[in-house]
Amino acid sequence: MFRLYYDTKSAALVASVKEALNTVFGLKADEELYLDPAAVMGAYNALRRQHNASQLLKYLIRRLQVRRDALSLWIVSDDLYVAGMNFVFGLAHPGNAAVLSTYRLDSLELVNKEAIHEMGHVLGLQHCTNDCVMQFSNSLDEAKAKPATLCERCRSLLHP
Ligand SMILES: [Zn+2]
Ligand SMILES: [Zn+2]
Repeated sequence: MFRLYYDTKSAALVASVKEALNTVFGLKADEELYLDPAAVMGAYNALRRQHNASQLLKYLIRRLQVRRDALSLWIVSDDLYVAGMNFVFGLAHPGNAAVLSTYRLDSLELVNKEAIHEMGHVLGLQHCTNDCVMQFSNSLDEAKAKPATLCERCRSLLHP
């Protein structure tokens, strides 16, 4: 079970992401919660016009510790960055939570794919060089090129 957080613009994607995560990981979202990135003080960088993914993730983890939440995924529609990178599609903390930005993802299929990738990290998977959804994507083209499914090796790591 996991909690799915979303903001205003990503609300329409919730049903589809839930279904994708259930299909790939057999994980069911037991609760969907609205959470606006603007609630995280200091996370927005006005010069970059991006939210700091590390700060959003820290906030989400703090929140899930307080609420004793299960694994959590937060879908936001604003652009994200981390120190040293121009942008990131998402950021995850294994065993806890991930934040995913839909800002640069131009199709529902891609949103589902990156949601699967981030949830893979939450479940403890690392980046993978096989033909696999856990491939690291540095660009939209790379994200589009990889499959939306786990390779044999990653699957066996989840279900030994
Ligand atoms: Zn990754
Ligand atoms: Zn893999």
